[in-house]
Amino acid sequence: MQYLEKKVRDSMEYYSGQINKLIEELSRLPGIGAKSAQRLAFHIINMPKEQVDALTGTIQTAKNTVRYCNNCCTLTDGELCPICSNPKRNQRVIMVVENPRDLVAYEKTQKFDGVYHVLHGAISPMLGIGPADIRLKELILRLQGEVDEVILATNSSLEGETTAMYMSKLIKPSGIKVTRIASGVPVGGDLEYIDEVTLLRALEGRTEL
Ligand code: ZN
Repeated sequence: MQYLEKKVRDSMEYYSGQINKLIEELSRLPGIGAKSAQRLAFHIINMPKEQVDALTGTIQTAKNTVRYCNNCCTLTDGELCPICSNPKRNQRVIMVVENPRDLVAYEKTQKFDGVYHVLHGAISPMLGIGPADIRLKELILRLQGEVDEVILATNSSLEGETTAMYMSKLIKPSGIKVTRIASGVPVGGDLEYIDEVTLLRALEGRTEL
């Protein structure tokens, strides 16, 4: 590993400062290693100027306009996301997920007509992520309204289970029905990668906690 890093560092000495800067910025993105960053940097340099302008413009506009939905905390352009502002959705059933990608996975099944709450993470004592570090406070506030059921659809990883247990203990005294999706979802599995049928089965087979 160290050898590889040194190799990249050595090869970087041959590029101009601006190219190095671009490679460095790109390599900070998740899943982009030093090699991919170099490949992307050269691809960008060779792209037509209009295409580069469109890309940077889109990144900036997205960054400046995308925000958390006032209700469910998912990422959206307006005050409320399209799901929360849809009158056909059942606002009394809230499915709690870890991130917007999980929300999209459930939306793709087209079988859930409730609304969501996006935590943007999960409790992880090992990583020092506590209840205050995720969007849990916002969920508790929502529960002061009229809510029939909270479906805990956090991942079946250790963090996801810890979070579900914590939420269950927190919500149950209020008398609101709390359910957990079935373990049709493989242990340690990321919800976003699981096919729609499995997700649907997990949702339908949910059990009351
Ligand atoms: Zn929303």
